[in-house]
Amino acid sequence: MNRVHFVGAGPGAPDLITLRGKTLLERAGVIIYAGSLVNPALLEYAQETCEIHNSAEMTLDEVIRVMAAAAEKGKETVRLHTGDPSIYGAIREQMDRLRALNIGYDICPGVSSFCAAAAALEAEYTLPGVSQTLIITRAEGRTAVPEGEQLAALAGHRATMVLFLSAGMLDKVSRELIAGGLPPETPAAIVYKASWPEERVFRGTLGNLSTLGDVEKTALVVVGNILGDDYELSRLYASDFTTGFREGQP
Ligand code: SAH
Repeated sequence: MNRVHFVGAGPGAPDLITLRGKTLLERAGVIIYAGSLVNPALLEYAQETCEIHNSAEMTLDEVIRVMAAAAEKGKETVRLHTGDPSIYGAIREQMDRLRALNIGYDICPGVSSFCAAAAALEAEYTLPGVSQTLIITRAEGRTAVPEGEQLAALAGHRATMVLFLSAGMLDKVSRELIAGGLPPETPAAIVYKASWPEERVFRGTLGNLSTLGDVEKTALVVVGNILGDDYELSRLYASDFTTGFREGQP
């Protein structure tokens, strides 16, 4: 049996965790959750006897030590990450350490905050004729991004962009995207705490992004013409389009 379960907590609302994730939380002997990013309401799914740790106050070594101690006692650990663990979750380093220790693990996906942000914005990231690509990235802050992934370089694609971990650098975000060729009029939005009771949505443009809302943390920046009014209708549902399931009418 796997002793560690990496679980995507979803974007915040406690009913946006998956059924599997909830079952794993209910069963866990130990939970290590990702600090303020995880809605504490989710911890109410835990058993009373469950040992609960906040990873915001821990190093990688400490996290692994807690997991190893739990495994030793035959307990299952849930490592609860916000959204989906595959996005800025720092799970790879944990998995590699567990493998070296011969501790079995698995991953339960979650609803990423970029999906909850789209829901809050009532947006479709991949609008025909506007953008068929979604770039998930972050501004370069204390943590560097690899060469070629700077915002100005990515702006050249003109694709829809969702920026994680960047709400504290709004000036830099708009400066770099404009320097990369996006017009200042490009629609942009900030979504704060998508799906939490405190959720807020601020809409504007790339040019006035830094004046939209005073949110430093737990917010996403969405940029692109998919937030505007122009798009083409889908081919899939067009009356003249034949598919494997439906004959198109001229
Ligand atoms: N794995 C997570 C992201 C972790 S990185 C996911 O899939 O969503 C942490 C960053 O995610 C935050 O700085 C913020 O940019 C974003 N974030 C997480 N939850 C959010 C939410 N509910 N609303 C808006 N942004 C959120």
